[in-house]
Amino acid sequence: MTTTLTIDLDAIAANWRLLVARHSAPVAAVIKADGYGLGAIPVARKLQQAGCKHFFTAHLSEALAVRDTIPDEFLAVLNGLQASDVEIFAAHNIRPVLGSLAEIELWCAHAKTLDRPLSCLIHIDTGMNRLGLPPSELAILANDPSLLSGLSVDYMMTHLVAADEPASNINARQAASFYTACTHFPGIKTSFANSSGLFLGSAFTSDLARPGAALYGVNPTPGLPNPLRQTVHLSAKILQIRDIQSGESVGYSAAWTANRPSRIATIAVGYADGYLRHLSNNGAARFDGAPIPLVGRVSMDLTTFDVTGTKAMPGDALVLLDAHYGVDDLAQAAGTNGYEILTSFRNRCTRVYLGA
Ligand SMILES: *Cc1c(COP(=O)(O)O)cnc(C)c1O
Repeated sequence: MTTTLTIDLDAIAANWRLLVARHSAPVAAVIKADGYGLGAIPVARKLQQAGCKHFFTAHLSEALAVRDTIPDEFLAVLNGLQASDVEIFAAHNIRPVLGSLAEIELWCAHAKTLDRPLSCLIHIDTGMNRLGLPPSELAILANDPSLLSGLSVDYMMTHLVAADEPASNINARQAASFYTACTHFPGIKTSFANSSGLFLGSAFTSDLARPGAALYGVNPTPGLPNPLRQTVHLSAKILQIRDIQSGESVGYSAAWTANRPSRIATIAVGYADGYLRHLSNNGAARFDGAPIPLVGRVSMDLTTFDVTGTKAMPGDALVLLDAHYGVDDLAQAAGTNGYEILTSFRNRCTRVYLGA
């Protein structure tokens, strides 16, 4: 057991509560991609105990994987409805987020077959141009409410394009088109903000917020202090320490060369663990609270750090992620975002759950 990913479920629950305190209506939990890489089942169980009643996944398979953990909660699938899946959705009381007239028709037809109302959400596209009813289909639906017969629509929903850029005027445009669209569906609740949307102000309030990333500690307000707690701690024991001379290189392609006599520590973490190769020559770890630079390439199973001048010994732990150097810091070093850092974690390292 040399590499340990510790996931703090209490911090995730605290983050959910902080978001709840920011919103006047219920706050769901998005647990797609296996709970942003941290484990959808333990996260769902913890948040359900904390009082969360609404959960979203991207895929039906992800919803099925957590259904037994949260058998009675509202559980919805963001990616929509495929004809082959209608029976499974209905049998497990999982709500599809319907994103086209064709999907609405499928769900209506199944409601007719079962002769009972079926629950769902309707996704309106207000600018993302990926999923959701485009304006042309929205106009058809708004003019013909009978297209929804047999359906119990819990929420009209849309998704923000640039919520993490508060200065972007796309946000206000989306709020205006969403709430204008919703006037055609009086009595149906709304679901709008993601993590960053919860920090955009009252125009982005709805009947159900849908944060994901912020629950797991990603900063929803880039450039400002992170109001959330870090939820992951990654550490790895040093396997070996090599003393090298000035002019010697380290690792594949000799991508780093020492310009002084150096001590190089090797740990059992690589890109196969989700420690991104883009961190080569650019990441950092901490030993005894002090930063130490990543040197050379991140390889599949091993990464090397320059521990010159420290007291590090084989068997000592290097800390790769903690409260001081969090997912957004690592993301910056890797040229990506905290979402990709979290969802890259693989199951090879030992996982420890705090607060389970
Ligand atoms: C992923 C997703 C969310 C959550 O977004 P975060 O930025 O992680 O808070 C909300 N709604 C939809 C439609 C999504 O796809």
